[in-house]
Amino acid sequence: MEYEAGYYDVVVVGAGHAGCEAALASARLGCKTAVFAINLDSIANMPCNPSIGGTAKGHLVREIDALGGEMGKNTDKTFIQSKVLNSAKGPAVFSLRAQVDRRRYQIEMKHTLEKQENLDIKQAEIIDILSETDENGSKKISGVKTHTGAIYRCRSIVLTTGTYLKARIVIGDVSYSGGPDGLFPANKLSDSLKELGIELFRFKTGTPARINRRSVDFSKMSEQSGDDRIVPFSFEVEEINIEQVSCWLTHTSEETHKIIKENLHRSPLYSGDIKGVGPRYCPSIEDKVVRFADKESHQVFVEPMGLETQEMYLQGMSSSLPEDVQIKMVKSLPGLENVSIMRSAYAIEYDCINATQLDLTLEFRDINGLYSAGQINGSSGYEEAAAQGLVAGINAALKIKEKESLILDRSEGYIGVLVDDLVTKGTKEPYRMMTSRSEYRLLLRQDNADLRLTPIGYRIGLISEERYKRFEEKRDKIQREIERIEKKVISPTEKVNAFLEKMNSTPIKSGVKLGDLLRRPELNYEALLEIEEREELSFPIKEQVEISIKYDGYIKRQLMQVEQFKRLEKRKLDKEINYLGIDGLRIEARQKLNQIKPDSIGQASRITGVSPADISVLLIYLEQLKRDKRIKDKDE
Ligand SMILES: Cc1cc2nc3c(=O)[nH]c(=O)nc-3n(C[C@H](O)[C@H](O)[C@H](O)COP(=O)(O)OP(=O)(O)OC[C@H]3O[C@@H](n4cnc5c(N)ncnc54)[C@H](O)[C@@H]3O)c2cc1C
Repeated sequence: MEYEAGYYDVVVVGAGHAGCEAALASARLGCKTAVFAINLDSIANMPCNPSIGGTAKGHLVREIDALGGEMGKNTDKTFIQSKVLNSAKGPAVFSLRAQVDRRRYQIEMKHTLEKQENLDIKQAEIIDILSETDENGSKKISGVKTHTGAIYRCRSIVLTTGTYLKARIVIGDVSYSGGPDGLFPANKLSDSLKELGIELFRFKTGTPARINRRSVDFSKMSEQSGDDRIVPFSFEVEEINIEQVSCWLTHTSEETHKIIKENLHRSPLYSGDIKGVGPRYCPSIEDKVVRFADKESHQVFVEPMGLETQEMYLQGMSSSLPEDVQIKMVKSLPGLENVSIMRSAYAIEYDCINATQLDLTLEFRDINGLYSAGQINGSSGYEEAAAQGLVAGINAALKIKEKESLILDRSEGYIGVLVDDLVTKGTKEPYRMMTSRSEYRLLLRQDNADLRLTPIGYRIGLISEERYKRFEEKRDKIQREIERIEKKVISPTEKVNAFLEKMNSTPIKSGVKLGDLLRRPELNYEALLEIEEREELSFPIKEQVEISIKYDGYIKRQLMQVEQFKRLEKRKLDKEINYLGIDGLRIEARQKLNQIKPDSIGQASRITGVSPADISVLLIYLEQLKRDKRIKDKDE
């Protein structure tokens, strides 16, 4: 029996990584918010690897923190190992990765939601999105209905349903309707979305088995320990010292590959039972054995899932092969001969939307007040989900507050790249963030996310006065130190030249700018301490100073490219343009432009199927429009 259960400004459907960020942002911006989950004990659940960050994903988490989101802080409270990946390469690809205690991560995030003013948390399945037609004849949402008949009226809805919509679990020839980790699926909402005219895709992802630590022979594996100096994810956290746990490295054997090849006919991936499209960059082990047949073995990381559990995660062994095959397969790995499997590997198929139906605020172009974020948009990964959740939650609230929306462009952050790629190009498989997706990765480093985004977080109201003051102090200290180093002249004293010789660096004959010394590849900021006295600065400030000076040539070049990019982003396109009527545009371009209604010439140029020639036609069309308007204004 249906009943009116109340009113909220914003309703968030789902309390996964996207839902938590969306709900917190909306409530913190002053909107009366409710967040729903099918099971409250699965808030911020990690159905896959118990880790946050990694290549490009670490950048997203730092950007979320810089804007005022929660994932970075929650990770700093619950991680059990921390590493900076790619530290032997350039700073553009330095990526923080933390192994987290899965249960504690959930408990902390759930508690943060529970303590948040303006936010109610509710256990219920949303089965229907209620909508009406507004005075302009366009569709707008009006509320949600739960599986128990409760109707909540609201002005905005953020969909963050993850891998639950019509979810189907597949293990060999066994399949059944089910969500991740034995949780209930959401089997009704997809039909309601279809009724609203939303196009859905079928995607798939998979996860490996979980094993009992007691059954592992670590003497046959190599220990992977965390970094000595821990870099926090949150810019709010100065320093962290914890006793870290280790991960372990083993690898597949010839026997493993033989078992997989002999049983490929029983794999639902190869039997065609799985229809959903899987992630290219997170392939299952059977996929890896087939696609990289020349490789004799693949790395497998055995990762702890927490401090109060014996459960361990087999990173790199995601699979949907039958259980009996899985057991043989896992037992063929060095160190796992006597393994006890606690949870089998499985694949999960689920419904997600075609994200090109959204605009850059993550609102549906044709459904007023309906937003979407996370895996439901075709992305894959906790970090990608959280980034979208933050953007959607902020924009749902800003719209209610009649304030300007938050749109981050590709030169401002990986969050901008993520949203633009999803809504402008769309994706035919689960989309994973990578540094190679950004044109400006030297500017979008993980270390300077606060310098790029905290002023924006402050402007929209998610960064407190107190935090912003600390940020300004840091920014000014960096600037002052860069100016000091670029101005200071070092004289060719005996001490200086002895130091340079020690560093295999060319001695100087006359006064040299300290900045020029720092630009020498064999010298770094820390080493130069030996030849000049200076105020002790924190590691994050030193890191900024060193990178800004050492890479300033490359940085300047990228900044010029950004200027060019921004010029095209500023050429705005009216949403009312009927592209079908523009002569000179190719048919495919007309259809795609009319479907996506790009914000700008820049966005139009990134739509698949729109060629540079089409963009030239568009620019001429805009000039024509401008001329016509001038003539019309003159006549009037
Ligand atoms: C088996 C598996 C393997 C994965 N493997 C990988 C991988 O290898 N690499 C990778 O990057 N990512 C992987 N992921 C994806 C990763 O888990 C997700 O990217 C991430 O959890 C998405 O976050 P989200 O917030 O979008 O959704 P989720 O974390 O899935 O959360 C969805 C939330 O929505 C709620 N919900 C759903 N429908 C309703 C409804 N109708 N009413 C109320 N509440 C609802 C659920 O209760 C849940 O709280 C995997 C996920 C699974 C399940």
